[in-house]
Amino acid sequence: MAKQIQAIRGMNDILPEQTGRWQQLEHVIRQLLAGYGYSEIRMPVVEQTDLFKRSIGEVTDIVEKEMYTFEDRNGDSLTLRPEGTASCVRAGNEHGLLYNQTRRLWYMGPMFRHERPQKGRYRQFHQVGVEAFGLDGPDIDAELILLTVRLWKALGLLPYLTLELNSLASNEARGAYRDALTAYLRSHLDMLDEDSVRRLESNPLRILDSKNPAMAEVLANAPKLSEYWDEESRSHFEKLCAYLDAAGVPYVHNERLVRGLDYYNRTVFEWVTESLGAQGTVCAGGRYDGLVEQLGGKATPAVGFAMGLERLVLMLEQADSLTIPRAVDVYVVAAGPEAELPAMRVAEQVRDTLPGLRTMLHCGGGKFAKQLKKADQSGAEVALILGADEVKENKVTVKYLRQNVEQQTVPMDELTSVLRTLV
Ligand code: ATP
Ligand code: MG
Repeated sequence: MAKQIQAIRGMNDILPEQTGRWQQLEHVIRQLLAGYGYSEIRMPVVEQTDLFKRSIGEVTDIVEKEMYTFEDRNGDSLTLRPEGTASCVRAGNEHGLLYNQTRRLWYMGPMFRHERPQKGRYRQFHQVGVEAFGLDGPDIDAELILLTVRLWKALGLLPYLTLELNSLASNEARGAYRDALTAYLRSHLDMLDEDSVRRLESNPLRILDSKNPAMAEVLANAPKLSEYWDEESRSHFEKLCAYLDAAGVPYVHNERLVRGLDYYNRTVFEWVTESLGAQGTVCAGGRYDGLVEQLGGKATPAVGFAMGLERLVLMLEQADSLTIPRAVDVYVVAAGPEAELPAMRVAEQVRDTLPGLRTMLHCGGGKFAKQLKKADQSGAEVALILGADEVKENKVTVKYLRQNVEQQTVPMDELTSVLRTLV
């Protein structure tokens, strides 16, 4: 036998047993976003490498070591997108979607990062991103968070999630804080791990994100970002909190929440869970008021977030809180070769009259008992049976596979009303 070719490490097949849950999750998300007036945008999976370097930042983990970058045949440097915000802004600028107007956009699709694969962390993963442009107030920040709360409720996940909030303030305020933090950490150099010493130069705020228990104390005593907030950022943050309080949404102000991408300012937030081990963040976002201009557009305030679908699917599996529609409602079997043609006709008739039902026709013949077994295995609610008698009398037998209901033989023109309850 020829040697089998395997999938790339960290890039998973999503198998038929799992796609029902994925589809249902995607369906709930689409409906919810429509309910808030957001429109879908679809960007390419590949972009110019410079787009990500300029937006995410040269000295972030993503750009330094996680991007799938390659040379096109004509020598251009291209990259498989590691996230969607940069592409969304690029598309918005390119097509004049952002200039002097407000836009509420969302997208869904695969992202690529060369990370060490483990539970909840993959090299190809999927995000839903939601972005709002042209609005600079805390009201839109609050709306985005309320949207996520509504989603967690719809998915039955709210009890397992905590909202963490922070403000990265203005660039100037953050700059002053960066200097203070760097000075403090420099005076405790012996207490920093190797990674943090390296970051001291390139990206000191990221040190706050360290999960190393040996550094917990030095970080707990570090200067606080909120002590450096500018007045406008403080008021923005307080108003956002007031909106959330009014809506009854609990949150934790996490002074050390900084996010790993350079473009954020002011509001940042994450939804975290304890139920996934180390990969606890399922949704993360914030303001990026400078990015549109930085990528060549006219200055436009913006805020958004992205959620990782794999992590949500893992949570949904654990909580078993999402009702997944049956893959098959009706399974049509033919008892005997003379019933095969009428069986196909009945299956087509059900699809005509009740297109909401998932109707599967048994193909390939075989013994009646075997066909019924297949009907059961399909998960169908009912089997429709056509035998010689049914064909002669223009009737069909409805056998209930899940409920304790007597099977019944009904005239063909009554079938629709019998099956209607299944839709
Ligand atoms: P993490 O803290 O897990 O490294 P991040 O800060 O790099 O996440 P973002 O770039 O903000 O993540 O992406 C938003 C969301 O996308 C994350 O909260 C997570 O749910 C999901 N995500 C990010 N990277 C991966 C990955 N490699 N595999 C699966 N999901 C991911
Ligand atoms: Mg990451």
